[in-house]
Order: sequence, then structure tokens, then C-alpha cells
Amino acid sequence: MVIVMKPNSKEEQIKDVCKVLESVGLGVHISKGSQVTIIGVIGDKKLLNNIPLELMPGVDKLVPIMDSYKLASKTFKPEPSIIDVDGVKIGGEEIVIMAGPCAVESKEQLMEAAEKIKIAGAQFLRGGAYKPRTSPYSFQGLEKEGLEYMLEAKKKTGMKIVTEVISQESIEIADKYADMFQIGARNMQNFHLLREVGKTKKPVLLKRGISATIEEWLNAAEYIMSEGNYNVVLCERGIRTFETATRNTLDISAIPVLKSKTHLPVIVDPSHATGKWEYVIPLSRAAIAAGADGLMIEVHPNPRCALSDGPQSLTPEKFIELCTTIEKLAPLVGRKYIMK
Ligand code: PEP
Ligand code: MN
Repeated sequence: MVIVMKPNSKEEQIKDVCKVLESVGLGVHISKGSQVTIIGVIGDKKLLNNIPLELMPGVDKLVPIMDSYKLASKTFKPEPSIIDVDGVKIGGEEIVIMAGPCAVESKEQLMEAAEKIKIAGAQFLRGGAYKPRTSPYSFQGLEKEGLEYMLEAKKKTGMKIVTEVISQESIEIADKYADMFQIGARNMQNFHLLREVGKTKKPVLLKRGISATIEEWLNAAEYIMSEGNYNVVLCERGIRTFETATRNTLDISAIPVLKSKTHLPVIVDPSHATGKWEYVIPLSRAAIAAGADGLMIEVHPNPRCALSDGPQSLTPEKFIELCTTIEKLAPLVGRKYIMK
């Protein structure tokens, strides 16, 4: 439920309403718009039985949230959220680009990728140290050793680190290295894992499940937020359809749909969506044109030798080409991206 205050309500009246809510054990989330203030109520609204909130001075109306997810809903918080990852803001004017290899394979591979990605202005280095592979016989990642290389690359380039976590143990280890946890498509409905990252304060990049509806995806975000961690960024990475020309089908329509349903930022991963590097630049352009807040791109110094996802990885040169395009396109849709 949200409480919509009257346009001319006073600061004292807003405080009084919050006091009543907190006195019965409910949490509050205040959204100050240019016209009205909305107070989001966190917790079981049955605690408010017999309290006539609508009669309190300054209160206009009480509005129930009809969606199955609440904290992630735009009704709860109408203005877009900007997620601050140690100084890099996702969801603001600036387009955020996360790039790097699918998996951290060696120190040399990661350092070479990181230095070239940095030249193109990417704010985040991505790289999997824990790889949930379709086959148990495929490369499973370097785990802690891989995270050590990520940290070294961060120290050298200044880029933030985003990396996938797959278990409680990997959360505890990655917590010391990563600026942002990634929950992969295969784990989008691993509710226990979602709750565990929700208990941390670290921002979470939540990828869309391979066959998840937008409602299921937003409920996954709700699991994280319901534990107190509101720093969630959504990542559209393609869904499984009847089409076989691409690895998955990039759901471009998910971008405006999400913008109408949630305040959380949205980024797009055209690499996993298509499985082919040739389609990554055109779909990156489409994603930014449709209103995405950023991109996640797989880049490998030598895609032909990659231990995973080589066919969808851009060379550093192609990645620079992509960023040059985004730098030109961004102002046309009211955004900016600056190649350093
Ligand atoms: C990844 O980003 O490394 C990855 C495995 O992607 P997804 O979970 O979207 O398949
Ligand atoms: Mn990959």
C-alpha cells in the first residue's frame, strides 16, 4: 500500500504519518515528487487495522499496490531509482557499460581485456569466476583465483567489478572482491540465493531467467528487496523462443514494459541474447534507443581461443567501435556516454 499525501501537505504532516506507521512496526519509504509525496508502506498492512490513516492531516488517499511484487513496483516508488555502485550511477543520465570476458581464464587474458575495455570508457569490468555451465564437463571457472585477478584489474584500471555468485559460499568469497553481485539467468528463481544476496548491502545485477515472464522476474527482484537490499538492477539477456537463428531472442519490448512497471534500472546483454558477435552492435543500438540504462557486453582479447562463449564475444577493436556508436547515439535519446 502507498499513502498519497495532498499536494500542499506539510513536512510535519508527513513525519506524523511515518511515526504512526513505525509505531506499529511498519517500514516507510518516502518518494518526493515535484507535486506530491508518496509514502510506501513496508510490511503487513493488517498491522494498521483500526488506524484511520486517511483521516490524518495532509493525507489525500491510500492506494493498494495491485502487482504481486510491491517494493519493485512503480506504484510504490514512482520516480526511477538510481543505483550508486561506489560512485558509478546506474539509471541516471549516463549510459553504463559493463564489459569483459565470459570467464576469467588467466591473469594475462583478463589484464589485456581490462586495459582495452577501459580505453573505450566502460565503467565496469565483468568476468565470471564461478561459471554455471550447461555441461558439467565444460570449464567451471577459476573461482577465488579468478577474483584475485579481477581485483588486480580493478586496481590497475579503476573499473568496478561485477561477477556472478552461485551459492552462499561464493557470496562470502566474492563479497571481498566484487562491487556488484550478478545473479545469472539459471539462478533467477533460486529463491534461497536471492534472499542471501538480499541480506547483503551490495548492489545486485539480476539477469532474466531463460523462460521467465516479466512478472516472475520482478518477483525475483522482490525477493532480494524484501530482505532490505534495494540496490537491484535488471538485465535483459534474451529468452528462449521457437527461433533458432540466434541463441536466445532479445526481448526489446521488455525495456519499455519494465519502465512502465518498475523504478529499477534496466540494462541489456545482447551477447547472451544472440550468441553471435555480429549481432551485438546493432542490438546494442536498439537497446539504448529503446531506453535501456546500460549494456553488458562480452569482450575477449582472442575470441577464437575463449574457454566459453567465444562466438558471441567482441574483439577489443569491435568493442571500441560499439562504444563510439553509443557515444554518438546517446544524446539523441537524452543520455550520454563518454569515451575517456
Ligand atoms: C554471464 O553473464 O556470464 C552468463 C552466464 O549469462 P546468463 O546468466 O545470462 O546466461
Ligand atoms: Mn557468457
